[in-house]
Amino acid sequence: MKPIRSSALQLGLVSCHDCHLLSRRPKTLGHGAAHCPRCGGELHQRKSNSIARTWALVLAAMVFYIPANVLPMTITSAVGTVSADTIMSGVIYFMQHGSWEIALVIFTASVFVPFLKFIILIYLLLSVQFKWVKQPKNLTRLYRFTEAVGRWSMLDIYVVTILVALVKLGFLANIEAGPAALYFALVVVTTMIAAESFDPRLIWDVVEKKHE
Ligand SMILES: [Zn+2]
Repeated sequence: MKPIRSSALQLGLVSCHDCHLLSRRPKTLGHGAAHCPRCGGELHQRKSNSIARTWALVLAAMVFYIPANVLPMTITSAVGTVSADTIMSGVIYFMQHGSWEIALVIFTASVFVPFLKFIILIYLLLSVQFKWVKQPKNLTRLYRFTEAVGRWSMLDIYVVTILVALVKLGFLANIEAGPAALYFALVVVTTMIAAESFDPRLIWDVVEKKHE
């Protein structure tokens, strides 16, 4: 079976990551650096070491996810008492005080979404590595979803920042960001870079190799 459309790769073309100029693939590609004839940017047929780099970043993010959930996110001190809250104890606190919407937002943004992103990225990596690609369009959609959702999982950091700012202005009891906030920021940033280093064109390369 012949593929319906040829990819730039098959036609010997390469697109510049910086200015998106499509140029003829230089002979040197693969044997040292080739440069874009327009902007001088380095040309890559595919993001280099995409799979290995994405794996490393996903695994690092999963490691940071543990202290982000186990260590305290906020440390509150009122008259004489100090209490430390993890993400989950914060969620439970809001649920018990009737603010289930806030509990739901915190749970979704800090626990569920990062976890979902791990699952999706691992699924994409395995699909490309073991050539499990049946519906490449759906895989590409999944990839776009993880890219788009990145900024929303930073929500918890915003909440902590706003709380701390309110405290400094004297509106609330003394609240400080706990160590989990740092790990959480690391989870968000590493997953975002992981999604960025995955090359979705690899999904379509699997399909094309099958047709050949
Ligand atoms: Zn260029």
